Amino acid sequence: FPNVSFSDVNAAASQEAAGKAVFGPDPASGAARLSLVRPGAEQAFQIDLSDAQIFKLGPMEWLCVSGETEAKAGVEEKLFSRAIKVVLRTEAESKAFSLAFQRWKQQTISGKAGESLENGSIVACKSKFDTKIEASSAQMYFHYYGQLLHQQNMLQDFVRTGTYYAAVMENRADFEGKVVVDVGAGSGILSLFAAQAGAKHVYAVEASEMVEHAQRLISGNPSFGQRITIIKGKVEEVELPEKADILISEPMGTLLVNERMLESYVIARDRFLAPDGKMFPTTGRIHMAPFSDEYLYVEMANKSLFWQQHNFFGVDLTPLHGSAFDGYFSQPVVDAFDPRLLISQSTYHTLDFTSMKEEDLYEIDIPLSFVSSVGTRVHGLACWFDVLFNGSTVQRWLTTAPGSPTTHWYQLRCVLAQPLYVMAGQEITGRLHLVAHSAQSYTIYLTMSAKMWGVGADPGGILQTSTAKLELKEPYYRLSQPQAYMPQDQQQLPLSSLQAQDRTSLFMTEHRQH
Ligand code: SAH
Repeated sequence: FPNVSFSDVNAAASQEAAGKAVFGPDPASGAARLSLVRPGAEQAFQIDLSDAQIFKLGPMEWLCVSGETEAKAGVEEKLFSRAIKVVLRTEAESKAFSLAFQRWKQQTISGKAGESLENGSIVACKSKFDTKIEASSAQMYFHYYGQLLHQQNMLQDFVRTGTYYAAVMENRADFEGKVVVDVGAGSGILSLFAAQAGAKHVYAVEASEMVEHAQRLISGNPSFGQRITIIKGKVEEVELPEKADILISEPMGTLLVNERMLESYVIARDRFLAPDGKMFPTTGRIHMAPFSDEYLYVEMANKSLFWQQHNFFGVDLTPLHGSAFDGYFSQPVVDAFDPRLLISQSTYHTLDFTSMKEEDLYEIDIPLSFVSSVGTRVHGLACWFDVLFNGSTVQRWLTTAPGSPTTHWYQLRCVLAQPLYVMAGQEITGRLHLVAHSAQSYTIYLTMSAKMWGVGADPGGILQTSTAKLELKEPYYRLSQPQAYMPQDQQQLPLSSLQAQDRTSLFMTEHRQH
C-alpha cells in the first residue's frame, strides 16, 4: 500500500506520518509482520501479526493493535499494547488492507469473497477466474478482445448484432427503468442498446483494455451514455453498487462453450442479479447431428500425406506420419456447411443460464442417439448452437445452424479418423464428452457407434465404434470457399481435384477467438 498515513496513538505527541504499509515475512524469523515505512525507506513501526488485531475506526481508518515487550536496561520488563492508526486513501484500498492484514495474520485464508471470518469478512481473494484459468491464457484472451478489429468483427456479424438489437428493442418492457449489467461489455454496444431501450442505469463490466474505447463510444453518445457506467475488471472480481434487474451478455464461443465465458455469465448472475431478475440470453442449446462428407474427409487425410515421403532431402519422414495424421484429426473443423450433409435429425442439449451451476460447465456429457436416413459413410458429428432471449414481450432465437444465415461462429465438425458405415434406418449411438481446461477451452471426447452389417457381420450385433479426441482451442478454420454440395452418389472425386481445397483464402479469415 504505497500511500497511507499512520500514527502511534500511544505516543505522547502523536504525529501522523505519510508513507507506505508493507505486509511480508520478517527476514530473520519469517514471522508475518506489517511494516510502516516513511519515504526514504525509514522504518517507523513494525507490527508482529501473530498477536495483532485490527479494529475498524472508519471507512478508511484502521487501528492495528499488537502486544509489545519492552526491556530497557535497569528497568523491569513490561508488557503493553501498541496501537497504530492507519489511514488509507480509498475505501477499496481500505478493504484490501484489512484483508491483507487478515491473510498475513493467518498466513492463508481459504474462502470465498463475501464469506465472514472471526473478525471481518473476506472482501477479495484469488478470484474464481484466477484459480481456474492459466494466467498466460487469460492474458492472450484479454489482449485479443482489447483490439478494436476483433470487436469490429463481432459488430459486423449482422445476424448476431441485429438479433441482439431486435431482442432488446422488442422487449423494452424488460429494460425500461431497469438496472442492467452488461457482462463482458467489449465495445459497449449491448449497454448502448439497453440504454436505448430505456434502461435506468447500465453497468458495463469489461476486463480488457477495450474499456478505454468503450468509454469514448459512450461519451460520444451522451443521450444514452449518461446512463452507462463502465467498470474495468472481471465480473468475478468487481463490486457493483446495486443489484441488476437484467443481465445482458454475449458470452458464446465456438460450440457455445468455447472461451469458458458462460461460467463468467453464471457467476455474474449469482453476484449481481436480483432474485427473479432476467438474463439475455436466457438459455442456450448445443445441437448435434452425424454427417457424411467424403470431400472433407479426404482433404483431412491428405494433409498428412507430406509425411509419407521416404526421401525428403534424403530424410525418411514416414516415422512421423501417424502423429501428423492424428494431429489433423484432433482439430475440429470450423466452416459453414450445407445442411444436406447431415444424415439424420439433430438432437440438442440445453443449458439454462438462469438455473445452472457454474460447475455444470466443467464437464458436459451428452449421450447421442440418431437414426440414419441414408446408407452412407458417417464421417463424424456436426455441431452448432442457438440461444434464446426469453423476453416478456417476444421470444427471439439467435441461431448458428447450417443453412441459416452464416454467423462468425460458423459451425463445428468433429471428424472421425475411422468413418462408420451405416444403412438407411440404422441407429447411431455414442457420446459427446466435453471437459473444460485451464486454457479457456475444452477437450472433446467423441464416441460414435453403429451396428455392423453386411456379409460376415455378427447378427448378435457387434458394434463398429470410432472415437476421437479433439482440442476445441485448436480448430481448423476451413473457410476458403463456400462448399458445393455433393449428392451422396457423386462424392467419389479424384484426388487431384481436391488440391485446390488446401488454399488459405485471403478473405473470410475473421473468426471468433480460439
Ligand atoms: N458485449 C460485446 C462483446 C462480446 S465479446 C458485444 O456483444 O459486442 C466478450 C467480451 O467479454 C470481451 O470483450 C471480453 O474481454 C469480455 N470478457 C470475457 N470474460 C470476461 C470476464 N470474466 N470479465 C469481464 N469481461 C470479460
